[in-house]
Amino acid sequence: MNEPPNQLVVFTDLDGCLLNKVDYDWSAAEPVLRRLEQLSVPVVLSSSKTVAEMSELRRELCLPEAPFISENGGVIQWSKWLLSSNEASSVPAERVAATTKRSTVLDVLTELKNQFQFRSFVDLGVEGVMANTDLPREKAELACQRHSTEPLLWEDTDDNIRLFLRILTERGLTLTKGGRFWHVAGNATKGHAMHQVADRYRDRMSGEITTAAIGDSPIDQSMLDIADYPIGIPAVDGQLNVEVDPHRGIVASQDGAAGWAETVRQLLLRLGIEDVN
Ligand SMILES: [Mg+2]
Repeated sequence: MNEPPNQLVVFTDLDGCLLNKVDYDWSAAEPVLRRLEQLSVPVVLSSSKTVAEMSELRRELCLPEAPFISENGGVIQWSKWLLSSNEASSVPAERVAATTKRSTVLDVLTELKNQFQFRSFVDLGVEGVMANTDLPREKAELACQRHSTEPLLWEDTDDNIRLFLRILTERGLTLTKGGRFWHVAGNATKGHAMHQVADRYRDRMSGEITTAAIGDSPIDQSMLDIADYPIGIPAVDGQLNVEVDPHRGIVASQDGAAGWAETVRQLLLRLGIEDVN
């Protein structure tokens, strides 16, 4: 078995990648996750979920300490190991860094309440979030603990959402459509956050690293674009909703956790970290 040329760092989206889209099951990926742990390959989770949700999930996945990217790149939760010794002594635990504060987003939304009909998480509260999602109370509480972005239910006309978007853009904010909710955020992207995390790994490892990024939706594209090895996971219907460079990339033949495991195995073979047998 050859030594890998550089330390591999894997960045991965959660829903539809490491976790199945429908049942959130990740058991198909577990053997590969444990293999990456044996190989000391960090797995950096990157999702729209909150820090509270992702901290819980990281415990469920039994992942070793690594930073993670939350709220679609609006927040980075650093790990103590990646902070410099100066920083580590000044912060008691891992540090959460938000590019745009949620309070900034909420200030703008409060101004726009007179002009448009919508309800965001602060208006809905935990009860309202439970009523509009499939989340049980404890998970809805974690979803409400936001640092950087605000989901909202649009209850106005399609014409007005164009005006709403224009005003948000003028204020330096973005609006993207999720499943049921629209998400108001700053200009952060998952790719920009990945770049910052990768830089820290380079500094701490005193050398180059090899990055892989795994995604299934356009919001992951910014990570796939800057990764050494972009990996695309198709949707449940088989449709691939990300662009994967055919020279560098790998595309899974299956959706969800099974596709995740299949492509990470292929990556380890391609890098010579594992051999065929
Ligand atoms: Mg996804």
